[in-house]
Amino acid sequence: MSVVTPVCAPLPVLGRDVTVPLASGGETTYAALDYAASAPALQRVWDDVAAYVPYYGSVHRGAGYLSRLSTDLFEKARATVAAFLDCRADDQVVFTRSTTDSLNLLAAALPADCRVFVFETEHHAALLPWNSARVTVLDAPRGPGEAVATLERALADRDDPHGPALVCVTGASNVTGELWPVTELAAAAHAHGARIVLDAAQLAPHHPVSVRDLDVDWVAFSGHKLYAPFGSGVLAGRADWLREAEPYLAGGGASRGVVRRADGGVEVRWQEGAARHEAGSPNVIGAYAIASACTALTEAGFEALVARERYLIEKVRAGLGDLPEVRFLSLFGDDAPRVGVLSLVVDGWPSADLATALSAEYGIGVRAGLFCAHPLVRTLLDGADATCESAEGPSALRVSFGAGTPDEHVDRFVAAVRQLVSRAT
Ligand code: PLP
Repeated sequence: MSVVTPVCAPLPVLGRDVTVPLASGGETTYAALDYAASAPALQRVWDDVAAYVPYYGSVHRGAGYLSRLSTDLFEKARATVAAFLDCRADDQVVFTRSTTDSLNLLAAALPADCRVFVFETEHHAALLPWNSARVTVLDAPRGPGEAVATLERALADRDDPHGPALVCVTGASNVTGELWPVTELAAAAHAHGARIVLDAAQLAPHHPVSVRDLDVDWVAFSGHKLYAPFGSGVLAGRADWLREAEPYLAGGGASRGVVRRADGGVEVRWQEGAARHEAGSPNVIGAYAIASACTALTEAGFEALVARERYLIEKVRAGLGDLPEVRFLSLFGDDAPRVGVLSLVVDGWPSADLATALSAEYGIGVRAGLFCAHPLVRTLLDGADATCESAEGPSALRVSFGAGTPDEHVDRFVAAVRQLVSRAT
């Protein structure tokens, strides 16, 4: 496999100078190769947040200058996110805590009797929030075409073809990095009168997401995977189901008017816009950080970011591809388009031990396990060499990277795995 030339430099991120101790007694700079779990914050995001922090005030809750400034920034952050996702004019952007929170919010807002269709390959955040009595879990497809055909069949076969239905699908797998055929799945959903929510937790940091072009009804993603700090996320899309639902959290901000009733209870008029599901004092710093990351990624240009990531993916595959002990995990095939997330198993090395050795001996941070996608990883590991199993059972090793990853981190990972493999054999 030929390794293409990088087309842009990594973006500056925090943590590039962090040194970590090695088992040998020395130390080295940390190679963060677990972007799929949490990506380091962009320097630009940190600078923007640091410049704003001295001025923050409560959002939608004060007449003072700083409160008005913060309210303005919070609402501008909403508009920036809407532009980043290429939302429709009447879509709503709700700030949440994370992708998990966004999908749970949508689950709580579904119309009564809504059927939900979800592939077993989803991250647990997308697999579990739905009412189990109304969810249909679809088998893992072995290609994008099979994914669409499987969904088509399930939607066509449902008992109540005219009732509300929702499809939840990932844009890029957190295990294999593979891109899912979102446009085709959205078309299938709509052809059968269903709606679709895109779990873009792994897609949005690596790839442009256009709500209009993909024709999805909602998108969910997390700030901490999009080069912003923890604690903020987004659910963006159609306003109607959200407006008709009870607020996700009850409290101040979500309520427009509250009066004490004669019988001792209270009567509430809830907000109709995004604030309906943002009860409590909003996380203005989190929203501002997400907007800053959206701006930074847009300015860097996804074309260049995607090309650089493809270059890093090929570096890993070319660097390890000749080792018979190494097997990359994939659902759609080794050459399927993917973001910078690769999972693999190495014969003779329990994945957890491999991850520990990479950290202790080389200062490399990767992850071993089932990556909160247990059914998918078990399917992918079917038939894998038992020597890859950890004490807790089957597990894989995941290496993931993105806009801030320098070549050196990937080169170090490849060289380290090669050394560890040669030690085992
Ligand atoms: N969806 C996917 C594909 C993910 O990879 C993750 C996290 O790893 C989530 C959802 C959940 O994201 P969070 O933990 O930020 O809620």
